[in-house]
Amino acid sequence: MDVSCPKSTWDQTQSPDNLKPITIPDPLPASLQLQDLKLAPFTELEHAQQKGRLKCSSCGGSRMFFCYTCCCLVGVHQQEIPSVKLPIKIDIIKHPSEVDGKSTAIHAKILSPDDVTIYTYPCIPEYESETNKVVLVFPGPESISVEEMLQRLQDMAATTSTDSPVVEPSPKRRRANEMPEGTQQAEGKASGTKQTQDSATEAEKNGQIETSRACVLQRVVFIDSTWNQTNRIITDERLQALLRVELKTRKTCFWRHQKGSPDTYLATIEAVYYFLKDYHELCLRQEYTGQYDNLMYFYSFLHTLINKAKTTAGKR
Ligand SMILES: [Zn+2]
Repeated sequence: MDVSCPKSTWDQTQSPDNLKPITIPDPLPASLQLQDLKLAPFTELEHAQQKGRLKCSSCGGSRMFFCYTCCCLVGVHQQEIPSVKLPIKIDIIKHPSEVDGKSTAIHAKILSPDDVTIYTYPCIPEYESETNKVVLVFPGPESISVEEMLQRLQDMAATTSTDSPVVEPSPKRRRANEMPEGTQQAEGKASGTKQTQDSATEAEKNGQIETSRACVLQRVVFIDSTWNQTNRIITDERLQALLRVELKTRKTCFWRHQKGSPDTYLATIEAVYYFLKDYHELCLRQEYTGQYDNLMYFYSFLHTLINKAKTTAGKR
């Protein structure tokens, strides 16, 4: 799917001509972002590619690299591919009639199995009690930017604590190993453990607001569906209370570009990746040095593969 973003916030270094929906030329243009990613070596995928399609040991389907039905690797060893630790949990809601083979949601699940959950609509979690910790990435007139999201979540948290001074942490989500770094620091301070004098002073210098900025968000929900099918999911009453966030417009490098759709429709894995990058810089306030680049591991490999095939076909 294919999260679309409004064009108004498009990177200002781009010329206005780039804002128009374009027909993807053949071969696809290599994206700057893809070239700049810090990725694990593709050796294992190259070996798997040479072996060709294999039978998935669970369902018997003919697959290469992974089985999109069973969500497991096929002809690829887990220890030979990267594993990405994420600072927050990711829920991906998939439309039941979305063709699994076309979805890039599976990339996220395979590369970050501990932090990513895929749900098939209508089986989705209840988020009502956690609207100050969970957001939905979806573009629209009421959607806000990642920066605005921080402020809104903080405001919501402040309102909640005014209403009920004793806020019990949610037992489901409050395990220390699930917390983003900034959160752990704040927790450490609250309980008086494992906090050096220096970092305590630093936190005071930055003020409590800076510390709490990183605390609030714990889970992000994405919808993996074609644009036409999305309506049924997005209008579901269980999702109405969630804050909707949209990404700064990024240009997709998705090879299954939908005819007629603008090139700002992102594949799900692109949307997850870009959100995390923004979260890292704007919410955790840390320098981004490629921590989540390997989420694009399969995507980049497949993109290169398809580009090569197209170039070869073009030369004939
Ligand atoms: Zn299978």
